[in-house]
Amino acid sequence: MNLDSLSIDAARSRIQQGETTALALAEAHFARIQEKDGEVGAFLTLCRDRALAQADRIDRMAAEGKRLPPLAGVPVAIKDVMSTRGVRTTAGSKMLNKYIPPYDCTAVARMEAAGAVVLGKTNCDEFAMGSSNENSAFYPVHNPRDLRRVPGGSSGGSAAAVAAEMAVAALGSDTGGSIRQPASFCGVVGLMPTYGRVSRYGLIAFASSLDHIGPLTKTVRDAATVLQVIAGRDAMDSTSANVAVPDYVAELDRPIRGMKLGVAKEYFGEGLDDEVRQSIEAAIAKLKSLGCEIVPISLPHTPYAIPTYYLIATAEASSNLARYDGVRYSLRARGVKTLSEMYRRSRDEGFGAEVKRRIMLGTYALSAGYYDAYYLKAQKVRTLLTRDFEDAFRKVDVIVTPTSPTAAFRLGEKSNDPLAMYLADIYTVTADLAGIPGISIPCGETKEKLPIGLQILGRHFNESTILRIAHAYEQT
Ligand code: GLN
Repeated sequence: MNLDSLSIDAARSRIQQGETTALALAEAHFARIQEKDGEVGAFLTLCRDRALAQADRIDRMAAEGKRLPPLAGVPVAIKDVMSTRGVRTTAGSKMLNKYIPPYDCTAVARMEAAGAVVLGKTNCDEFAMGSSNENSAFYPVHNPRDLRRVPGGSSGGSAAAVAAEMAVAALGSDTGGSIRQPASFCGVVGLMPTYGRVSRYGLIAFASSLDHIGPLTKTVRDAATVLQVIAGRDAMDSTSANVAVPDYVAELDRPIRGMKLGVAKEYFGEGLDDEVRQSIEAAIAKLKSLGCEIVPISLPHTPYAIPTYYLIATAEASSNLARYDGVRYSLRARGVKTLSEMYRRSRDEGFGAEVKRRIMLGTYALSAGYYDAYYLKAQKVRTLLTRDFEDAFRKVDVIVTPTSPTAAFRLGEKSNDPLAMYLADIYTVTADLAGIPGISIPCGETKEKLPIGLQILGRHFNESTILRIAHAYEQT
């Protein structure tokens, strides 16, 4: 079966028409994983039984002539930071190597309720901390477009699974760019919804005020379809918003003529690779030719985004990760004599270097005497960054930027230099801090055939507009 460019709608309608079965689609994807994933490393765990049971359910519905739900029979992959009942969930960490959750993440449950067939759990940076997937405690992911290069992070496994056609769609999580940046590196679509649009229930916490779940897909339409399914209030997450979910798919084809696109000078400065710049400028010109108006804007606090993000994210992480104490679901060191030795040794053995670095940074930023100077100050700058966007969105409908300053870098190229790695997120962290939605869509290639991503940012709860513009661009 040819899986290339198989979209969600195509998969569902082929099953509905009886041209294929959900079982055959699942098997074809497992065969593809078998063939390809040895060199890519996108998956950590496969859940064949669960997938085949769901496929069978869908095939029975189709055989009975029932109208199939939007993701019926669609093979999907789930980043391993989302809990799956009865299926190992590691967060890319040795700490949770053997953890089997007793419940499902809401987003996963909603995908399955809409008919999706979960093939397995994807590799990621440990606790979603990273920009290259090299922080996975298990093995790195290789970019399917060039195996010597990273797929981006931290949702690198999800992006690579979709890019290598090992899944039709995937879920990832974005705290500072982890959906959009790997989408950009692997040449797929990645959507980070507004904070609160999608429930975080069952998402293993990294930084709770910044964590977002969202789709990685082959097309913008597919991203709209998945968002439609996972969005909306969930009683299990008090931060999930009680805001009506529009019909994202129906709105895709509305005209974009006359829309105002903001271009912020702060996103085109030093550090931006020339080929990426040219490609983004060409994409902006194309959007202009579709009738959009280009408006120069300024987001003046952008230079403070990286330090602000790395203070808030590490502070929240240090608190969230305190739960891994060796007592409950996590790894417990053997041969210890006292309680405190058990805590210390379990955390020492279970966490990798980057996670430890962040726990130390965050604990420091929150400690008495430093709280005002670091954490509190960062929260104030976060407000200023949010206001930058609010001011801009009084003048424009969306903001277009590069997703990442460079295309995919080589494995090992930045792994010994955490600060250089942190700068890979320079264009993505601001949206997480402000809680606004953003999408990355493929917009070109470098001379070496590496994908380049265009980022489109929108107003709170205005995913429809960014999806519409992305869709119009994609059609050209
Ligand atoms: N790369 C960023 C970090 O390391 C973002 C991670 C994320 O979005 N989960 O924190």
